Amino acid sequence: MTAERRQSRTLDAALTPTPDPGWVLSETGEDPLRESSLETRYAVSNGFLGVRGARVTSRGARWIVPARTYVAGLFDTDPEDAVPALVPAAGWLNVHLLADGEPLAPHAGDPALHRLTLDMRRGALFSEWRAPKRGGGGNRPSGPGPLGLRIRTARLVSLARRSLGLQLIQMDMDEGDIEVTLEAGCEGLGVGLCHATMTQALCVWRTRQSDIGLAMAGEARLRVDGAEIPAQALGPLNWSWTWKTQPGQVVTFARLVALERGRGPDAEVADTARETLHATRARGWRGVLADHEAAWSYRWALSEVELDGDPAARTALRFALYHLNGAVNPDDEDVSIGARALTGDDYLGHVFWDTEIYILPFYALTWPRAARALLMYRFHTLDAARAKAARLGWRGAFYAWESADTGAEAAPGQVIAPDRQVVKILCGTQEQHISADVAYAVWQYWQITGDDDFLVAAGAEIILETARFWASRAILEADGLRHIRGVIGPDEYHETIDDNAFTNVMAQWNIRRGLDVAALMASRWPDAWGPLASRLELDAAELDAWRIAADTIKTGLNPTTGLYEQFDGYFGREDIVLGQYAGRSVPMDVVLGRARTQQSQVIKQADVVALLALLPQAFEGDSGAANFSYYAPRCGQGSSLSPVLHGVVAARLGDGETALGYFRKTSAIDLADTQAADAGGVHIAALSGLWLMAVFGFAGLTFHEGGIGLKPQLPPGWDRLAFPFQWRGRRLRVSINAIEKRLDVTLEAGEPMTAVVGGASLALETDLSLPLAI
Ligand code: BGC
Ligand code: BGC
Repeated sequence: MTAERRQSRTLDAALTPTPDPGWVLSETGEDPLRESSLETRYAVSNGFLGVRGARVTSRGARWIVPARTYVAGLFDTDPEDAVPALVPAAGWLNVHLLADGEPLAPHAGDPALHRLTLDMRRGALFSEWRAPKRGGGGNRPSGPGPLGLRIRTARLVSLARRSLGLQLIQMDMDEGDIEVTLEAGCEGLGVGLCHATMTQALCVWRTRQSDIGLAMAGEARLRVDGAEIPAQALGPLNWSWTWKTQPGQVVTFARLVALERGRGPDAEVADTARETLHATRARGWRGVLADHEAAWSYRWALSEVELDGDPAARTALRFALYHLNGAVNPDDEDVSIGARALTGDDYLGHVFWDTEIYILPFYALTWPRAARALLMYRFHTLDAARAKAARLGWRGAFYAWESADTGAEAAPGQVIAPDRQVVKILCGTQEQHISADVAYAVWQYWQITGDDDFLVAAGAEIILETARFWASRAILEADGLRHIRGVIGPDEYHETIDDNAFTNVMAQWNIRRGLDVAALMASRWPDAWGPLASRLELDAAELDAWRIAADTIKTGLNPTTGLYEQFDGYFGREDIVLGQYAGRSVPMDVVLGRARTQQSQVIKQADVVALLALLPQAFEGDSGAANFSYYAPRCGQGSSLSPVLHGVVAARLGDGETALGYFRKTSAIDLADTQAADAGGVHIAALSGLWLMAVFGFAGLTFHEGGIGLKPQLPPGWDRLAFPFQWRGRRLRVSINAIEKRLDVTLEAGEPMTAVVGGASLALETDLSLPLAI
């Protein structure tokens, strides 16, 4: 066979991962203890569909095990649990292989023959398995021997057309005269969905309580040496093919599925899924693959961070960007990103402050349309936030601490802690900073993008309604100050506390932005402001009351020491030296017990330090350093989010080595094999945190009215850091070269602007090349 002819009959190119090892993560062999972590790490996702990286080779008779597929927004509430959870869709990658009627299983004795490769550049998961030649006269493969069969697979969910999933398989046969059967199935039973319609090429399900429809249209083809052979229909989305092998035979298999989610009648989702699949016919799977790869190249061009000198950190950043670029759907305003994105079951798909505070800046600066869609989700759930505030006796909008599809509070009433104790969850009513976090993200997005249409149509209302919440929430007391009592701050070890500095200062900031937005709307968009103010029944008297409320909120700042007290009475709590517990393998609340932890100064995660990261202007002179030195040693880092903001702050304070320690701690969360907790999905906010540490920390990127600011301080070992971003319709690139001691800022597209570097405000027309003061 000529090379060209072989190429047209094989999937060789499609099944070959990017050769540059910097773009792939791979794994040879199989370790049962690490399987579920690898499934998380190697998940493929596009913001609508997420498929865990379950291995193509199984220990059982089936050589492909179901890979869990999540569909964004497919929430249902089990009446017994009473909180919505993401329901997995039917597994669409199943394949069952038989040789002379016997299941063909991988040879368990030589796991080195199994290879799994995540190609981050192309957004696809590959696998390779070489099956040994059959021994003796039996049908089962037995004993090590010369290779008889090579199987390669690829799977992806399209970044160009998010409803599409593609699976490719190629088998190179060394042996002849075996009757092989390949069954391609779809496992929809037991996934918590009810069947509605089932035909050979289409299934429709509905969630049991929330009544959301899910349609899957699919088709599969198998070719033996280039010639398609007819499938036998085994049932809905299940097919089977049987043929006789020959030495040198090449068998290729391609399966495409289109999934659709919707609340309308079944027929609508079914038609859309069918049409999506139909639209791929003209160009086939090769077209689907090409469009997907083009979409990934585009995302990499707009977001890739280049890092020289620290290969481990570079891999971590690449891994983070791979998952971030696959976590969002800019075309769907009805969903946001759950704490584990679409890669695992932990936190049931719920959306936390993780999205607004940790994840959103990445999109605002590299993918504004995606950031806008995430904020529109908060706009569409504003009514639920208003209802929550009203139910609890407050005004305005109090967002759900855990949010799912409707925006109603989705935090569970209780959970079982690691020590098997039943713990009541108070976060849903007490972790109120979420409202200010959402407002913060709206304002930050608007500052970065200058998207006035969004501000006028949606953002302003979010900021005003959250400001109104805080103004009603902060109660004037005899001391002349307004207090916010009975809350939980980011540090969830301390519940029902008063005047949490993070909450109060963020609330104050939120009310002030409410006043800014009201003034801005009245002067720049009076035609929109009139109807909005009257719909919200917001008048001058209420705005005056907000002003007074903001000016009199207790902040917990001690003007003498410059320290914020994390909450009322914090400084009087037991001061435990965390250094003594350095070797622990469990969180501090488990070491000390919940009761003692609550009575101590031990912090779960960045709290005052989080405030310092988000609102550095609230820390005058060197009080930022003073607060960091006080609080960092008291933090048990009990959340994956925590090292992120410590790292950003340490980098900004110029302590690159400490910041790098937090960076490495964060990269280990999803990439180090010593971590046990990652089976439930990637920690997408911590991954975004790696980008935050690089860009907001080590590059020191900030924003001003007329432009951007940079204060580069690379950590030890980082020779060069370069990254692209967008600011108010412009495209920019920053490159910090520690070896050549140079900072380059390039304005690749858009109007001239200013860049503030080292205190000097410089005009940026095309590029700036400056000596780096290190
Ligand atoms: C988290 C809370 C959450 C609770 C219930 C805890 O582990 O820290 O933020 O509300 O789980 O999901
Ligand atoms: C953290 C929260 C976070 C949640 C989801 C919890 O452990 O304390 O701050 O929002 O996890 O990531």
